[in-house]
Amino acid sequence: MAKLSVNDLEVEGRLVLVRVDYNVPLDGARITDDARIQATLPTLRLLIARGARLVLCAHLGRPKGKVDLRYTLRPVAEHLERLLDGNVGFAPQTVGPLAEEMAARLAPGGVVLLENLRFQPGEESNDPAFSRQLAALGDVYVDDAFGAAHRAHASTVGVTALMPQAAAGLLMERELDYLGRVLHGADRPFVVILGGAKISDKLPLIAHLVQRADHLLIGGAMAYTFLKAQGKSIGASLLQADFVDAANKLLRDSGARILLPTDHVLEDGRVVQDIPDGAKAFDIGPATRGAFARVIASARMVFWNGPMGMFEKPPFDEGTLAVARAVAASPGLTVAGGGDSVAALHAAGLADRLSHVSTGGGASLEFLSGDTLPGVAALTEK
Ligand code: ADP
Ligand code: MG
Repeated sequence: MAKLSVNDLEVEGRLVLVRVDYNVPLDGARITDDARIQATLPTLRLLIARGARLVLCAHLGRPKGKVDLRYTLRPVAEHLERLLDGNVGFAPQTVGPLAEEMAARLAPGGVVLLENLRFQPGEESNDPAFSRQLAALGDVYVDDAFGAAHRAHASTVGVTALMPQAAAGLLMERELDYLGRVLHGADRPFVVILGGAKISDKLPLIAHLVQRADHLLIGGAMAYTFLKAQGKSIGASLLQADFVDAANKLLRDSGARILLPTDHVLEDGRVVQDIPDGAKAFDIGPATRGAFARVIASARMVFWNGPMGMFEKPPFDEGTLAVARAVAASPGLTVAGGGDSVAALHAAGLADRLSHVSTGGGASLEFLSGDTLPGVAALTEK
């Protein structure tokens, strides 16, 4: 890739401002899933081993530019301290004299996490004055927050222009590497599996990937809009009527490569090929699972986003689990992205068996739609 890497930086004894994605799910002050924190450890350990002094910045939730202690990053700092087996300080202010003093006092290998960026209105408005305050906390900048790279905020874009160097962290590099291979359809046969709630959310993604994929398997609620476009009866299953035309166009342009469900599990548990009037389909049926698994097994590269059914409500998780197992069993390059499908992979204990599971929900889908992510564009060229 053409961007400067954290590996290229001289960091010994220098203050490194690192943007990380610690937007983790919390139950009170308890972190219920620390995958995003774990994912930054390689970058942090590399910088610590090289004697850098680390100032970490991140956001949590949507406090909307005001201090709201329900969204304090203090529990994250405490969790990180356990993971790193060492001193991780917490600056109760995001920027300003106290944060600057804590940064100045850091010894080589020391770490301080700043309070939630989004307590400051200047973060999301990409305010130049707030960017200057952030820039005062580091000599160089590293971005490891792929999950925030689709936002042009002070900590992802504004601050980069004020730093002599803005480099990609190891997680950022890994995301861009794997998702880049998917974006360009690097290995073939290339199979894309898409599901989830709304075709409207994912139209740019479908439009881009359908040009690259040898097979596009569509399940989940969005499949019914495609089936409707084919003139099939979908009963009372979820439909986005405004998108039937768009689905129709995709089917016309690339019909042979698009595979739709041929059987369905209804709300009452019955399996049918034709959905009766008034019935709701909540999952792909066994014949569809088998057909999808065979296509997945033939692939050298697989990308998966979106559950195949209402997976939060067993037994309607079986189609999603069947696809998760088929992807995990593939010997090819396997990549997954998106919030709910990634959660399903973690819940099934299969995430480790994929080549790469993206930490960025929205960011991964925007990237795979062919968009340039502002947080990536802002990094220094190699
Ligand atoms: P992701 O976060 O992986 O991109 P989405 O957010 O697009 O996925 O979609 C996930 C949601 O889609 C889930 O809440 C799931 O219950 C819902 N869903 C999938 N299939 C169906 C279906 N057949 N009927 C109703 N809801 C569905
Ligand atoms: Mg989702």
